[in-house]
Amino acid sequence: MNIIESAGLGKRYGRTWALRDCTLAIPGGHVVALVGPNGAGKTTLLSMAVGLTTPTAGVISVLGGDPAGSPDALDRIAFVAQDAPLYKNLPAADMLHLARNLNRRWDQQYAESRLRDLGIPLKRKVGKLSGGQQSQLALTVALARRPDLLVLDEPLAMLDPVARDDFMASVQKAVADDGISVVLSSHVLAELERMADYLIVLSHGQVQIAGEVGDLLAGHRMLTGPAAEAGQHAGRMHIVQHRSAGPQSHLLVRTAGPAEPAPPGWQSRDVGLEELVLAYLRESGAGVMPGPAEVQAGTRTEVQA
Ligand code: ATP
Repeated sequence: MNIIESAGLGKRYGRTWALRDCTLAIPGGHVVALVGPNGAGKTTLLSMAVGLTTPTAGVISVLGGDPAGSPDALDRIAFVAQDAPLYKNLPAADMLHLARNLNRRWDQQYAESRLRDLGIPLKRKVGKLSGGQQSQLALTVALARRPDLLVLDEPLAMLDPVARDDFMASVQKAVADDGISVVLSSHVLAELERMADYLIVLSHGQVQIAGEVGDLLAGHRMLTGPAAEAGQHAGRMHIVQHRSAGPQSHLLVRTAGPAEPAPPGWQSRDVGLEELVLAYLRESGAGVMPGPAEVQAGTRTEVQA
């Protein structure tokens, strides 16, 4: 079952396309990292997935085919927006009460015991909780809805390192205990690397690369060799990024697998997730590489150094 599926999806504000020609099929059972620079279209994509924003073009469905924003979809998706929207003047207990009345699925016992375990006083007003506690409260409200899909838009932005770690541990526990799928956008690549097993890189309103992290890493190599020879390889390889350092060139290339031999005189090594993401982000102005077969970006050009 695909948790999010879109075809030709686009959103335009005035003359600006916030997201354009986005075709995705994200399989369930993953923690999906949505990565991209400021203004890439991440929030726009997530808002359309959870039914808060209507597409200008194309279609989007969730959880095996429910139209985004339909009552069934709304019941099964929980969304924590960037600013963790909570009523600051309400005590935490009233926040739970409100959420209970607004949702058809709700697990009050879970919500209360989770806040207790986290040491968040039910009587304290939301506005008097720390930033980390407010984020945890927002996550608790989302999880107590017992969603099949949890969507988190930059949940870590306001948190210190310890609160970030606690928050991520909570999400990981929910994934392990309840088998939910998670899509989260974040700029913190190191944390995404620890958590995510599926990656989507968005830039300039378009998908640059998408797929399971293991497949993406296995499908790329870093080649290092004489700068003078780099030009010879440009036509024969999918070069995602070409960097020169003195007499040496570093080529991040897309390969058929780790077994593919490096050209004579060149060294080949694995790439890390952060390195891969940065390469696609840096080069995204220049072109787009194909992703795995099940996930396709709308427009693609091969990148050649
Ligand atoms: P960030 O990492 O900064 O949160 P993002 O990847 O989430 O960025 P979006 O918020 O989706 O990016 O914005 C994509 C583009 O659409 C930007 O150019 C933004 O200015 C524009 N945009 C988003 N929402 C609106 C709106 N309500 N009205 C006009 N333009 C908008």
